[in-house]
Amino acid sequence: MFEVLMTEEQKRLRDEVRDFVKSVPRQLILDMDAEKVSFPKEFLVEAGRRNLLGLRFPHEYGGRGLKWVDELIALEEIGTLGMSLTCLYQVVSIVGETLNVFGNEAQKEKYLKPTVEGKMYCAEALTEPRGGSDFFGATTVARKEGSHYILNGQKRFIVGAEGADYFVVYANSNPGASPRDALSLFIVERDMGVEVKYIYGLMGTRGGGVGRIVFRDVRVPEENLVGEENGASRIFWQMMIPERISSGVTGGSRAILEIAARYANKRKAFGQPIRNFEAVSFKIAESITKLDAVSAFGYAVAKTVDEGIGTRGYQRRLVSELKRLSTDVQWEVVNDAMQILGGIGYTNVFPVERALRDARLAGIWTGTNEIMNLIIQHEYYQELLTKTVEGRDMEADVPITEAEAAEEKVYE
Ligand SMILES: Cc1cc2nc3c(=O)[nH]c(=O)nc-3n(C[C@H](O)[C@H](O)[C@H](O)COP(=O)(O)OP(=O)(O)OC[C@H]3O[C@@H](n4cnc5c(N)ncnc54)[C@H](O)[C@@H]3O)c2cc1C
Repeated sequence: MFEVLMTEEQKRLRDEVRDFVKSVPRQLILDMDAEKVSFPKEFLVEAGRRNLLGLRFPHEYGGRGLKWVDELIALEEIGTLGMSLTCLYQVVSIVGETLNVFGNEAQKEKYLKPTVEGKMYCAEALTEPRGGSDFFGATTVARKEGSHYILNGQKRFIVGAEGADYFVVYANSNPGASPRDALSLFIVERDMGVEVKYIYGLMGTRGGGVGRIVFRDVRVPEENLVGEENGASRIFWQMMIPERISSGVTGGSRAILEIAARYANKRKAFGQPIRNFEAVSFKIAESITKLDAVSAFGYAVAKTVDEGIGTRGYQRRLVSELKRLSTDVQWEVVNDAMQILGGIGYTNVFPVERALRDARLAGIWTGTNEIMNLIIQHEYYQELLTKTVEGRDMEADVPITEAEAAEEKVYE
C-alpha cells in the first residue's frame, strides 16, 4: 500500500503484521507445500493470540473494529506467506462477515468470537461437484423436521475442511421456488455428522486442508440457521465482498517481483547484468506499474466499501473488477518473474515456481474471472442504462448536424 495513503496507526498495524509474518516458520511453508501438513492450526492460533484475525469485527467479538483499508494493509503482508496461509487467514474474515452481519447474538458469541480468537476453526461451503459458477443451482437440500433441519448433499474444494470445527453451508430449503428464494445458510458443526474427505492433489496452494464434505441426514438445530429461512442470497452477496476484496492483494507477487529484479541486477549474460537488456527491464517496469495500479485501485475499492458509497451493485462491480484485475496481474507478474530467472526459476532453488503454482488458482477460485466479467458488465449496464450522460456529452462533438447524425445512427 502506498505510504501516502496510510495513517501512522495503519503503518503501525502493517509493522505489527509484518512482525507476525516474519515469525511464521519457514518449515511450515515448506511442509505445507510438501503436503506434510494438512491444516496449519498453529498459524491461526498464533494470529488469534496476537489479535490479528478478523480485524474488522467489533471488539466484543475479538476483533479490532477496523476497516477494509486496514485489512488490505494487513493482507499485503500476509500475502508474502503464500496463498494457502493467506486464504486460511482470510476465511476467518469471510465466514466472520456472515456471522457479524447476519448472525444473532448467540451465534456471534458461540462461533464468531472463538474464531476470531483463533480457538475455533471455520470453513465456507458453497461449491458443489455439479458446479461452482452456477452457485444458485445448489442441490444440497435442507428439510425442516421439528426443531431441526436435515441436510443432504455435498460440497467440494472447501479450504480448511480438514481442520474446521464448523462450516457455513448454503442449502436449498425451498424446493420448487426460484433459486434466489430457495437458499438458506446454516452453521453446521463438524460433530453434527459432517463427513470430511481429504482427497485432492492440488497443483499449488497446498496444505490448507482443502476437502470434500458430505452431509447424509445431518441434523442441524434450527438455532443454527443464519438470517432468514430462504433468505441466503442476500448473505451470499455480502459474503462475496470479503471473498473478492481479499483476492485483490499483491503482497505475494510484489515479493516475487523483488526476487526477480534483484536476480536481474546480479545475473550476467553476454558480459553484462541481464537487467541491461530491455526485454528483461521492461518486464520489471511493466510488473511494478501493474502492481502499483492494483494497490491504488484496491485502496479505492476498500474505501468505497468502508464508506458505503454507491449502490450495492456499484460496490459489487468494483469488488469484482478488483478480483479480476489483481488476480490477472498476480499471474502475469509471477509468470514474468519466472521468465526473468530463466531455468533456475523453474526449480525449487527459488520460491517462484511455488508462487506460480499458487497464482494459477487466483483466477479460478472465489468466482472465476469469467464470472467476474459477467458481474462487471451486468452491473455497469445497470448503472449506465438508468442514467443520462452526467458530464459533457461527447457523442454530440461531431462535425455533422444532429439531424444528419440521427439518420446515420441506425441500430436495427
Ligand atoms: C484449491 C481450491 C480451493 C477452493 N476453496 C473453496 C472454498 O473454500 N469454498 C468453496 O465453496 N469453494 C471453493 N473453491 C471452489 C471455487 O470457488 C470453484 O472452483 C470456482 O467457483 C469454479 O467453479 P467450478 O470449479 O465448479 O467450475 P465451473 O463452474 O464448472 O466452471 C468451469 C468453467 O466454465 C466457465 N463458466 C461457467 N459458467 C460460465 C458463464 N456463465 N459464462 C462464462 N464462463 C462460464 C468458468 O469460468 C470456468 O472456466 C475452491 C477451489 C479450489 C480449486
